[in-house]
Amino acid sequence: MRTFVHTSHPARVVFGSGTVGRLTEEVRRLGGKRVLLVSGPALDEAAQHVREALGGLVIAEFDGAVMHTPVEVTEQALTVVREAGADCLVSVGGGSTTGLSKALALRTGLPQVVVPTTYAGSEITPVLGETRDGRKITQSSAAILPETVIYDVDLTLSLPLPTSITSSVNAMAHAVEALYSVDANPATDHQALEAISRIARALPRLAADPADRGARADLLMAAWLAGTCLATVGMALHHKMCHTLGGSFDLPHAETHTVLLPHVLAYNAPSDPDVMRRIAQALDVPDAASGLYDLVASLGGPTSLRELGMPESGLADAAELALATPYPNPRDLTREGIEGLLTDAWNGRRPE
Ligand code: NAD
Repeated sequence: MRTFVHTSHPARVVFGSGTVGRLTEEVRRLGGKRVLLVSGPALDEAAQHVREALGGLVIAEFDGAVMHTPVEVTEQALTVVREAGADCLVSVGGGSTTGLSKALALRTGLPQVVVPTTYAGSEITPVLGETRDGRKITQSSAAILPETVIYDVDLTLSLPLPTSITSSVNAMAHAVEALYSVDANPATDHQALEAISRIARALPRLAADPADRGARADLLMAAWLAGTCLATVGMALHHKMCHTLGGSFDLPHAETHTVLLPHVLAYNAPSDPDVMRRIAQALDVPDAASGLYDLVASLGGPTSLRELGMPESGLADAAELALATPYPNPRDLTREGIEGLLTDAWNGRRPE
């Protein structure tokens, strides 16, 4: 018999096509009358849909969200919130925009409606990572968790194919690590396997036709399921290493996840063969690590840390950082093992 503890977070999720049409109703449900619309670069098209849907409710806008939520940007946006007297936050964009919305909600107590346009999953977690003086500090609290999430597949159609691929593997990483998490339970197992399977089936369809609405819907559904896993159970080696590499070497978030995940799977495989078998089954491949690597390579990558701009001279430091604080992982962390994993990822070697 399995023994577990499951704690879930409250979430109101509206999912479908054309669901931004429900924005006004959802904002009013939270008592909002004066909305600050938060977005970021390259989000003009999605922001326009949201602006139109909100009509006269938008009192001010801030379109300066950037990756890793620097506190200086949050301070600028806070000034806009206060000057406008906003009583509700609506954000549209990927994890970077959601991060800014969460940082504002934490400081003001304002309710949030988040409209995600990538598959990062941040919208469904109570976690916020902020950068101050070049260091990323992560915290978790109920005040960070968005009240309402509106998933609208139509707003993801403009997400470029390469970002769609890496963002999907970012979602897959949440699901993979949930399966071997120390907090794993039957609910997150089910969500994780469903997410992995939907992503593996959707990505080749999306690569063939980036406007495939059905494939986009599968990816968005998987993003929600995988994000729920991330919100519910503790992550392990993979998330720790991505956090370290992103923070210390300024590597792009979703791309780093995409390169590392097959190598972390290969590293952990001997310690949890049953989970690896279930991941392989969900991916519909004989072996999880090499199967995922082949999927990513067939879609055009990225497959190496080198192509992301990671200096080879940084590998030893990265291994040191990954080993610095103890955290749960199926396989014990050894310097030799982590250095080997990072070297393989840097070179883009196919896991055997
Ligand atoms: P992102 O939000 O930076 O988006 C990636 C790029 O895609 C950006 O240039 C963005 O403008 C563009 N984009 C997004 N949607 C688009 C659309 N529909 N059309 C055209 N372009 C679009 O990247 P991300 O990977 O979604 O998020 C990364 C950030 O989120 C990181 O800071 C990461 O730490 C954080 N994150 C946090 C959590 C959490 O639970 N706290 C979870 C996942 C990610």
